[in-house]
Amino acid sequence: MEQKPTRDSFLPYGRQWIDEEDIQAVVEVLKGEYLTTGPYITRFEKAVASYVGATYAVSFANGTAALHGACFAAGISDGDEVITSPMTFAASANCILYQGGTPVFADIDEETYNLDPAEIEKKLTSKTKAIIPVHFTGQPAPLDEIAAIAKKHQLVVIEDAAHALGATYKGNKIGSISDMTMFSFHPVKHITSGEGGIITTNDKDYYEKLLQFRSHGITRDVNKLTENHGPWYYEMQFLGYNYRLTDIQAALGLSQLKKLDAFIERRKKYRTMYDEAFQGLQAITLPFQDSNRCSSWHLYVIRLQLDQLSGTREDIFNRLRQENIGVNVHYIPVYYLPYYQSLGYPKGLCPKAEKLYEEIITLPLFPAMTEKDVHDVIQAVKKVICHYRKA
Ligand SMILES: *Cc1c(COP(=O)(O)O)cnc(C)c1O
Repeated sequence: MEQKPTRDSFLPYGRQWIDEEDIQAVVEVLKGEYLTTGPYITRFEKAVASYVGATYAVSFANGTAALHGACFAAGISDGDEVITSPMTFAASANCILYQGGTPVFADIDEETYNLDPAEIEKKLTSKTKAIIPVHFTGQPAPLDEIAAIAKKHQLVVIEDAAHALGATYKGNKIGSISDMTMFSFHPVKHITSGEGGIITTNDKDYYEKLLQFRSHGITRDVNKLTENHGPWYYEMQFLGYNYRLTDIQAALGLSQLKKLDAFIERRKKYRTMYDEAFQGLQAITLPFQDSNRCSSWHLYVIRLQLDQLSGTREDIFNRLRQENIGVNVHYIPVYYLPYYQSLGYPKGLCPKAEKLYEEIITLPLFPAMTEKDVHDVIQAVKKVICHYRKA
């Protein structure tokens, strides 16, 4: 292979896109009266709720805190089992542990890489309390099948939609469908507030619990107080946290939200460029797609057909990094992580997810990429795959 890399500079797999308008939005807050829990929080929450078509939204300091809040609101506590996917970031399962629950990993569908409803059924017990489907890479999970299981067994459904802001399932936006849905505003996600997260819901009871949970379990609502000492009086009624987003972050999030549809358009355009370029390339499987469930294309994950290649996934990964392409792997099955191993989860638990993990590589995909960047990735992938393809 020639010495000179495809690119001179390193291209990350994901990155934010901040413009002058975003900067001005933040500066306005800094000049104003409230830095936190001011007017931008409600504006941002209303705008996200309206965008996804939900009645309520509650913002949080980050997506993980938001998932913790949702597990609290769902009533998950000691001894409860919650079914989720192993093919996700640790936070999807950690939020269950925060509440004293037990994460139960169900295997994935080999085509979509999302939770397989048949595998969920196999993991149901009398202790199952909730299901946390993860929309892997932005590709919506099978929500109808999951809702049917949840209804039959009276389970709460909390969607981990960290990858799926702007995705649609059978014509409805993700965030409008299940009991609660979490979105993240980490800089690699669709829009950013630096750190940040939100839960959308159509249920007033969940909404009120989430509000109270993110602020120490404290309420000042006179209708909820058990006593009233006067206008200064508030009550802490359960153990909550300080999980609030700042107005600085909310203003950034609100400004970014205006660009969300344009960001998604660019993501879609670039993934089409990848699809077309890699169509004829043997030895790799391209991401699943389905017109009924529109992905918002957070990640572009290719699967290597290792039997057709002379190198390992690590060889190919390293070669792409040498080309200055910021490839990544999403994800290491959650229960492989040492902490989960210490809890006693056996390897072999979800064989399809484990096999997938051995074969995947995430290519760069983010709206601030240029077409030149996309062409660089295409050129590097073709070069490396052709180098390792068996004759
Ligand atoms: C990013 C992410 C989270 C957590 O979001 P943070 O805002 O970083 O806390 C949870 N689940 C998945 C699948 C994610 O990608």
